[in-house]
Amino acid sequence: MGFKVVHTYAVPNADLGEKLLEPLGANLVKGLWLTEDEIIDHAKDADAVIGAVAIQPFTRRVLGSLVNCRIIAGIAVGFETVDLEAATEYGIVVTNVPDYCIDEVSGMALALMLALRHKLFLADKSVREQQLSFTRNRVALKEVLYPMLRMRGQTLGIIGLGRIGTATALKAKGLGVRVIAYDPYVLGPVMESRGVEPVDLDTLLRESDFISLHTPLNPETRGMIGHEEFKRMKPTCYFINTARGGCVDEEALIQALEKGLINGAGIDVTAEDPIAADNPLIKTPNVILTGHSAYYSTVADMELFHKPVSQAVLALKGEWPLYGLNPQIKERWLEKWARKA
Ligand code: NAD
Repeated sequence: MGFKVVHTYAVPNADLGEKLLEPLGANLVKGLWLTEDEIIDHAKDADAVIGAVAIQPFTRRVLGSLVNCRIIAGIAVGFETVDLEAATEYGIVVTNVPDYCIDEVSGMALALMLALRHKLFLADKSVREQQLSFTRNRVALKEVLYPMLRMRGQTLGIIGLGRIGTATALKAKGLGVRVIAYDPYVLGPVMESRGVEPVDLDTLLRESDFISLHTPLNPETRGMIGHEEFKRMKPTCYFINTARGGCVDEEALIQALEKGLINGAGIDVTAEDPIAADNPLIKTPNVILTGHSAYYSTVADMELFHKPVSQAVLALKGEWPLYGLNPQIKERWLEKWARKA
């Protein structure tokens, strides 16, 4: 009998990558199921489940009911809503998609950096509302945009030099900026090999003209940028967050902007997501808000949905998937599922 693959997050108008399953002759069951009972109902006899592991409840109860399942192939970088410990106990490999939007998010960090430096929101407003132009209203437009620094020679400080932080650093080098980074888990010589100067957090906060945050959100990084950190930044510094809202003490960020401790901010991710209508950031000038859209491009969206299917295909062939998050079960998993030659 063929495999049964259940896709629990089959959103409309998305190419789910069904074609990848065709050679296996798998029976694909698709739906958009958001509760434990719905998932159990549809997936209890599945060989593989593809789902949104940062949104849907892959709890111990759900995982325990998936008696044939060898993989939960997650559609996301984060996997906050899957009980990884239970999956490990039940011998189910869980995967994520760690690399589908490195180009997009690093591009957004750079776009925010450039938009803030060029004060695009002010220039745009002046043209729309007053039709200002340097050709005729030099004094007025200069007043709006003053002071304006040359990008070349400025310092960009990156906190978290992982996949996206590194891509941001490499792109920023093209602008002629000095790039420094703080990441306690990346060796200094490795940073230097990427043309990045390793520094401690204090030096980064004090010397940077732009600070771009690229750490994961975990107990260590939650609220890591707060009052003390904003106080140490230059008053001309622009702060950019495309990582996770929870890494920043938002109250402290709002105060830093209001008190002029920093010059402005580019914020893709907020503590509450989506942002609440009464969040003061909405009315704070010198802030660009982008609504957690940094990841988005049509290609990234396709990769996000295709890659989990490719992980499921590997697992159904008895091969350990590329993005396995619980490698401690690899040996017993392969013993059970690897095809015998
Ligand atoms: P990654 O795991 O490749 O890199 C994270 C880096 O942070 C690692 O090098 C790690 O050593 C470092 N780090 C961990 N703790 C640290 C600390 N206390 N201080 C300094 N550095 C620390 O992750 P990534 O794929 O580059 O993703 C970076 C962030 O971007 C994550 O928070 C991720 O969730 C987020 N993200 C956002 C979007 C979006 O649309 N806005 C999309 C994808 C990813």
